[in-house]
Amino acid sequence: MTTVLGIFGDPVKHSKSPRMWNAAIEHLGLDARYLPFHVRRGTVGDALVGMRALGIRGVNVTLPHKEDVIPHLDVVDDAARSIGAVNTVRLEDGRLEGFNTDAPGLVRSLLEGHAKVRGASVLVLGAGGAARAAIVGVAQEGAARVHVAARRPEAAEALVADLGGALPCPLTASGFDDLEGAFEATELLVQATSATLDGSPHAQAFADSLPMGRLPAHATVTDLVYAPLETTVLRAARERGLRTVDGLGMLIHQGAIAFELFLGLPAPVDVMRKALAG
Ligand code: NDP
Repeated sequence: MTTVLGIFGDPVKHSKSPRMWNAAIEHLGLDARYLPFHVRRGTVGDALVGMRALGIRGVNVTLPHKEDVIPHLDVVDDAARSIGAVNTVRLEDGRLEGFNTDAPGLVRSLLEGHAKVRGASVLVLGAGGAARAAIVGVAQEGAARVHVAARRPEAAEALVADLGGALPCPLTASGFDDLEGAFEATELLVQATSATLDGSPHAQAFADSLPMGRLPAHATVTDLVYAPLETTVLRAARERGLRTVDGLGMLIHQGAIAFELFLGLPAPVDVMRKALAG
């Protein structure tokens, strides 16, 4: 019987996940199909009842359902609990299991890019959902400390207060003023705002406002935004000769980890990357 997989989102039609997944499935010759499901806000519980009844093996969950999905699940893994968001649901022996593969996906992408994570001083820019996943991911991978800076300092402080007790390294917070000292102490810079997205009127001004020249020469810079692939912040880092890791790696590896959870096979990461690039 064909294994059915998919993604729940609203909207969902722009999602690149079906292209990436179906390329991997075809490459391995599996009898499976990955479909986009338009699940309207507020109805994810109904969709999960349908998933269980229909025997859909696994779904990725995207906006706006990543948090709403939690009360409808039978089990939720530790990373998803700490982050407060689930992006992957597996149906296993009639039970719905929730995971967050964004955090380990980012870590895999960073390690693939030869970034230092264990023992590193990390600076995360932004205080939204992606920043949250990044903080949990690097902290659980053994970062020495994480500083979170956001344009609204109260948002960074709230995030740190919420996550602090549950993570194995110290977390601190600030606004965007006086970041020179923080940049000087940073070995891994994680750009997790949406300021660098394609079409953002602030993309260049945002990058210009950052004291990139203060980063140590051995620092790595990653931007979670993957459209464009080389953001204004990554370009500034590259021009200073720093190691860079683009946001596509996180997207691919969160999918690769979900692939392994659903199908029990190593994901063909290169095929997935090629499908996204095409
Ligand atoms: P959210 O909307 O939850 O958070 C966005 C954050 O960016 C907020 O802290 C917001 O601040 C800040 N921000 C927006 N514009 C600016 C600006 N001009 N200057 C400074 N800060 C700004 O989004 P997510 O956290 O979910 O996603 C952030 C980005 O990460 C997205 O653009 C997305 O493309 C990318 N992403 C990539 C993934 C991957 O797999 N590579 C996975 C998930 C996300 P405020 O609250 O003040 O508005």
